[in-house]
Order: sequence, then structure tokens, then C-alpha cells
Amino acid sequence: MTAPAVEFRGVGLTYDGSPPVEAFKACDLVVRHGEYVTVTGPSGSGKSTFLNIAGLLDTPTTGRYLLAGIDTAALSDRDRTALRGSRIGFVFQSFHLLPHRSATENVALAMLYTREHGHQAHAARHEQAREALVRVGLGSRLDALPGKLSGGERQRVAIARALIGRPSLLLCDEPTGNLDTVTAESVLGLIDELHSHGMTIILISHDPEVAARGQRTLTIRDGALTEPAAR
Ligand code: ADP
Repeated sequence: MTAPAVEFRGVGLTYDGSPPVEAFKACDLVVRHGEYVTVTGPSGSGKSTFLNIAGLLDTPTTGRYLLAGIDTAALSDRDRTALRGSRIGFVFQSFHLLPHRSATENVALAMLYTREHGHQAHAARHEQAREALVRVGLGSRLDALPGKLSGGERQRVAIARALIGRPSLLLCDEPTGNLDTVTAESVLGLIDELHSHGMTIILISHDPEVAARGQRTLTIRDGALTEPAAR
């Protein structure tokens, strides 16, 4: 049996301070490979903390986190970074594109940080960046600067960039938060398509309609992650 994509065993995170902030209360969670899980909850409830733990950006203060069966607590910083780069793609609400670089350059630059592509020549990286942009429907906007792209197009560039390391897990933090309804729908359609090709997806949204796109929806309140009875 293959290990789950994500497994939390009593994972929690408390920020130091007086008083300490229990941002994510200890919980167990299993996300299987190929699942599409959404997480919803009010602002300040711990959604980003959860995603940062799942994405190896934050280390839990209690419990064990196994990513594809790998116990992440045992890893050095260097190995955590390598594991993140090879397994996880991130998509954020605010795109995080470099403003003075074209769509292709934004994707190609991200390839420098991946084990698979980091050693490749400039031309090879650009060719693959172009292919990634074609896959997300941006074949006609390859040389555009982010400022000349619509919000939906910018998010597609960000998704192309997230996919470049061939991650098995895509973590999306309010990916449609800055988009109008029609554009949001097209970005969610692209995420559906990635899911249908086997990608494991964890998507955070405070919007119940967006959250309903997942196969499972988890709720987080005051740092406590719960799974309401299956729909
Ligand atoms: P959400 O993403 O649902 O808006 P967050 O995960 O960002 O919520 O925050 C959860 C709680 O943890 C909030 O009370 C927030 O103020 C607190 N928090 C987040 N980051 C830190 C930090 N670095 N230090 C202390 N408290 C933090």
C-alpha cells in the first residue's frame, strides 16, 4: 500500500509568546494521493498555518508530519527544502510574480531552484517554461509582463510556475481571492483538470462555493481542524 500524500499524527503548532498562540491545534489527518481536499474557515482561524505546515514552510511544534511516507521531522533544513522543491507546488492569492520579467521568465526562473531543472541551460529552461505556459492556456501571452496580464492570466502563470518541478501535491491558498467570478471559475477549472490527471490538491478558501469543489471539505475554527460528516 502506498503511503498517503499527507499524514498528520498529532500535528500542532503553537507560536511562542505571552500568552502563546495555539494557531493549529494538534490533530490527525490523512490525505490520500489524488485527493482534492478543500479547507474553509474564518479569517485568523489557522488556515495559512495549516497550509504552511503541509508545505514544509513551518515546522510543527508537536506531532509528526509524514509527506508521502517521509517523516519530515527527521530532515535537515537542506533536505526539507529539497523535498519541498521536488514534491510541492504553491499557488497564492497574490500570484507573487516578478513584475519586470515576462511570463516565460517568471516560470523559467523558478526552475533554477528545482533539482530537475536547476542545472539546465537557459534555452532549455525557457523552452520548458513555454511548454508549461501553453499547458495552462497562455500560449499567446508568453512574452507579456505581469502588468499586461489579467488577474486570471497571472494566476495561470503562477500555476505554470508551481507545476514546473512536477510536484505531486499542489497547495493553493485562496487562489481565486483576487479574481472576479468568471475568471475564478476558469482558474478552478484548471485546478479540476490537474486533479483529474492525478494531482493531490489542498485548497484553502473562505468561500463555501469554492470549498464545495473539493471531494472533501475540512473546516478550521480557532485552530481546530475538523471534518464534517461526508457529503
Ligand atoms: P488564517 O489563514 O485562517 O487567516 P492564520 O493561520 O494566518 O489564519 O493565523 C492563525 C492564528 O495564528 C491567528 O490568531 C494569527 O494571529 C496567529 N499567528 C499567525 N502567525 C503568527 C506568528 N508568526 N506569531 C504569532 N501568531 C501568529
